[in-house]
Amino acid sequence: MKITIVGAGNVGGACASFITAKDIVNKILLLDLSKEKAMGKALDIWNASQLLKNNTKVIGLGKNEYIKTKNSKICIITSGLIRTTGMTRDQLINKNAVIIKEVTNNLLKYSKNALFIIVSNPLDLMTYVAFKELNISRFKIFGMSGLLDTARYNSYIATSLKCNPKDVQSLLMGEHGDTMIPLLRYTTVSGIPIGELLSKRKLKVIINKTKQTGGEILNMLKTSAWYAPGAAIANIVESIIKNSKTIMTCSCYLTGEYGLNNVFLGVPVVLGKHGIEKIIELQLNKEELNKLKTSSLKIKQMMEQLS
Ligand code: NAD
Repeated sequence: MKITIVGAGNVGGACASFITAKDIVNKILLLDLSKEKAMGKALDIWNASQLLKNNTKVIGLGKNEYIKTKNSKICIITSGLIRTTGMTRDQLINKNAVIIKEVTNNLLKYSKNALFIIVSNPLDLMTYVAFKELNISRFKIFGMSGLLDTARYNSYIATSLKCNPKDVQSLLMGEHGDTMIPLLRYTTVSGIPIGELLSKRKLKVIINKTKQTGGEILNMLKTSAWYAPGAAIANIVESIIKNSKTIMTCSCYLTGEYGLNNVFLGVPVVLGKHGIEKIIELQLNKEELNKLKTSSLKIKQMMEQLS
């Protein structure tokens, strides 16, 4: 089984290394505008194989070598520009849309049955751009967003409670951006509702910090986060390869779910070997539904900015 990652930057390299550590695929093709960069990362990751006890061959490719990605089971797109300090995700729109269109077309030529995972920002919009370009089933293309945002939220709850992050269970929905919706009603720690463990004031701080994490890391590193995004992508790939039917939030194309249409938005789904096997429709209350609508409106406004 082979998979392709386009974009051998920070996120592409990190997700390649997290996937190899899981030892779940035979081959990863890492393709970039710069073949040298892709080859260098591939070699470095392969050098760690004996240490990490895996046998996943990683091969670096340049932009004229899409033919070598033929018959990939999964194509992951991390190519794109990153936000610079002070720049919003929205400002990336048209530059990254051009990259996404070019890359998806090249991939589709050789891997017609692949599942597509989009990572480039602004995430929900770039997934929409790729979907329109690919013209494939909406269950075979989705964006990586909610899993990362949920992990960030969970890590702050664990910090606040001084507990193990693996005991925190939660759900975030909506945009991968400022209007994301951490759902307190669906947040528990070892089965205990979060409202019984943390005050409203503390939870508000955690929710704000979750929303601001992307920007906070950008300010500190002068580039996007990559470890947690890479780990989130690897978990998605694992769910697909192992057909584990894991429930997680991904950015999906909605055609009436939650009363929303023609928009990619983070919602809980069941992930398996065919991609999205089910979109879960929760019984959201009025306030939660309104927040989801606000999120959807924001993405639709960005859709209008696409040239
Ligand atoms: P990076 O600059 O380190 O890497 C991007 C890579 O894409 C570069 O190596 C570049 O050469 C390559 N590239 C650009 N155009 C290309 C093309 N046409 N064909 C092939 N390769 C091309 O950036 P990064 O930190 O890895 O981030 C990549 C993208 O992921 C950005 O858009 C960033 O905003 C986004 N991101 C998303 C999430 C998320 O949660 N969805 C998290 C972090 C970063």
